[in-house]
Amino acid sequence: MEPRATAHIPEMITLMETLIARGHAYVADGHVLFDVPSYEPYGKLSGNSRDEIVAGARVDVAPYKKDAADFVLWKPSTDDQPGWESPWGFGRPGWHLECSAMSHKHLGANFDIHGGGRDLIFPHHENEVAQTCAADPESGFARMWMHNGYLSVDGEKMSKSLGNFHTVRDLLEDWPGEALRFALLTAQYRQPLDFTFDLLKQAKASLDRFYNALAQSAEPAAGPVPDDVLAALNDDLNSPQAIFIMHSLADGVFRGEKGAGAALRGAGAVMGLLQSSAKEWFQSGDDDEAGEIEDLIAQRLAARANKDFAEADRIRDDLKARGIDLMDGPEGTTWRRT
Ligand SMILES: [Zn+2]
Repeated sequence: MEPRATAHIPEMITLMETLIARGHAYVADGHVLFDVPSYEPYGKLSGNSRDEIVAGARVDVAPYKKDAADFVLWKPSTDDQPGWESPWGFGRPGWHLECSAMSHKHLGANFDIHGGGRDLIFPHHENEVAQTCAADPESGFARMWMHNGYLSVDGEKMSKSLGNFHTVRDLLEDWPGEALRFALLTAQYRQPLDFTFDLLKQAKASLDRFYNALAQSAEPAAGPVPDDVLAALNDDLNSPQAIFIMHSLADGVFRGEKGAGAALRGAGAVMGLLQSSAKEWFQSGDDDEAGEIEDLIAQRLAARANKDFAEADRIRDDLKARGIDLMDGPEGTTWRRT
């Protein structure tokens, strides 16, 4: 479900009416404001006390606020701004209100997980909790908060003005999506992650290693998720630890350990990794080029049949220079991108 704030204006109005009736909100100067001092647990999520918030508030606190920490639930709109009719005039909701109205409607008074970036803990998530729980004393709101760490690029904060950001769409032009996913899983989600092309290269190299192991393994089916991988993921999604274990499973495959291949596939399945065959992984890329490579392999085979080894070697060397390795085996010649 991808609910839209603009489709939930009646729910927001009801929520504000409840907050006003319960003494947690008031109307002033065309605004509806949340009365922070009326809600005692305010600040519990972020660890900010009301006093700290007030001390940090800008000097020019809006005159219609009873308390400097109070925040806007509804504000007036002029005719050229988006707005809706309400009991308090033509206006629009504050930023936080929509999330309380939509989560309460679609998920209920209590739900398991609320996600979001660290930068949203205060004031946004703190205010969501206050709005929802002050209006509905039955509500515990989210049982668990999962706040993800900042993503930087080359050691700098990503920003539109610096232009130092990459879109997934752009990255997918040159990199397999699986390498992107792997790179993002190398940091535990609460920790900051510095995105670099070196990180992507390392992610790709790790996946090459895993797919090499799977290509060697005689165990084609995924086993159950290994216990230690599950334990790592149950520990607040410790994905770096799970990846570490996957590397030792790959070691096991290279040593010929029984069950290691099935365990590696099982670990990959729960991580959203290793879902392709090794052949698909190593040959992924431009399909037109794949056809051309197959043609060149056939030409090389013909050259060898004619004992023109110089031509056969030239074709192999040309492909190598393009980053394509040929492997001659009992079942013919296969290829992979390096
Ligand atoms: Zn929100």
